[in-house]
Amino acid sequence: MYKIMTAGPTQVKENVRMARSLETTNPDLDVAFCEFYKETCDILQELLHSSGTAYILGGEGILGLEAACASLTEPGDRVLVLDNGIFGRGFADFVKMYGGEAVLFTSDYQHPINPADLRAFLEKDSDFKYATVVHCDTPSGILNDISELCPLLSEFGILTVVDSVAGMFGEYVNVDESKIDILCGGSQKALSAPAGLTMLWVSDKAMEAMENRKTPIASFYANILTFKTYYEDKWFPYTMPISDINGLRAALDNVKADKDILERHAKIAAATRGAVQKAGLKLYPEEGFSNTVTVIEVPEGLTDTQILSTIRDKYNVMLSGCFDVLAGKVFRIGHMGENARIEDMTITMNALDRTFADLGYPLECSMKEEFLRLMK
Ligand SMILES: *Cc1c(COP(=O)(O)O)cnc(C)c1O
Repeated sequence: MYKIMTAGPTQVKENVRMARSLETTNPDLDVAFCEFYKETCDILQELLHSSGTAYILGGEGILGLEAACASLTEPGDRVLVLDNGIFGRGFADFVKMYGGEAVLFTSDYQHPINPADLRAFLEKDSDFKYATVVHCDTPSGILNDISELCPLLSEFGILTVVDSVAGMFGEYVNVDESKIDILCGGSQKALSAPAGLTMLWVSDKAMEAMENRKTPIASFYANILTFKTYYEDKWFPYTMPISDINGLRAALDNVKADKDILERHAKIAAATRGAVQKAGLKLYPEEGFSNTVTVIEVPEGLTDTQILSTIRDKYNVMLSGCFDVLAGKVFRIGHMGENARIEDMTITMNALDRTFADLGYPLECSMKEEFLRLMK
């Protein structure tokens, strides 16, 4: 088994794996499951400060993004897609797929979106049904300040869809204060359950927008409205993946009990960035670093494959490469959720020290030593 230090999926704790092996009932017919599902959704709401409704859908994180767009977009709707990263831009595909017109607000991929620039744009054009924004754009490691961007969009009467799949539980999220209408999360990032579930937090305003559509939602599986009355009706639109949800619940209980989870992410991330820079490597973002992932440029003379395969095959540590416009240019350490532990990061930094030595690339210091010094 490799040590999984990727930008998601992350390492899964034993109690989460055990919960997934519990005996199962028929989740369609046993009302005890419906109660358990609702209780789990209530914990999700509480942890992220939402007065709307949380739902768990059977499907990987991408399903949540698609469900938000499928459920809100009517043919011809104008949608503002905030694009300063690969996932950010990707929302345009879902918008178009459901007949919307995606208008891109693009800024460079090494800085967070600047709220003043967005305001200037909105003052000229704010005729959008909703806007999409990514909290932590994982491929580039950028963190957008949703607590500024979403209230701003809301001020212009625009609903907000936020992808915090790789942000939540490693970075602070307050759904109500930030005026987020649909928040999308996934099981396999900082929550540290295996891949397979998506979570959605839906505001009353977003629910109304779906109900007031003139045209039906062009999907069944990605239709959020099909969940609306599950609790009153004791009926789910499709059979819920009960073992996945048992695991998710255990992971949520872990997060709930982990009082300094955000501070730990911040400290580990800062020490990681400090060590990387001191060693003479370059971080990809220029500012707005997410505390869940560190994205490092592949230095001249080396390839991402050399770094990733050496650290994996010789030191048993799995890191992430990248894709799309960043393919080959960066490699990534995912220090979110169960990966955000000093022991795991020490092993990772030591493995990186040895990998660079093996590849004949001298670092300016030991990243492990510097990491540990900064963690003191
Ligand atoms: C991981 C992730 C998703 C879910 O998609 P994957 O198929 O797991 O890559 C969505 N958005 C972001 C920002 C993510 O990091």
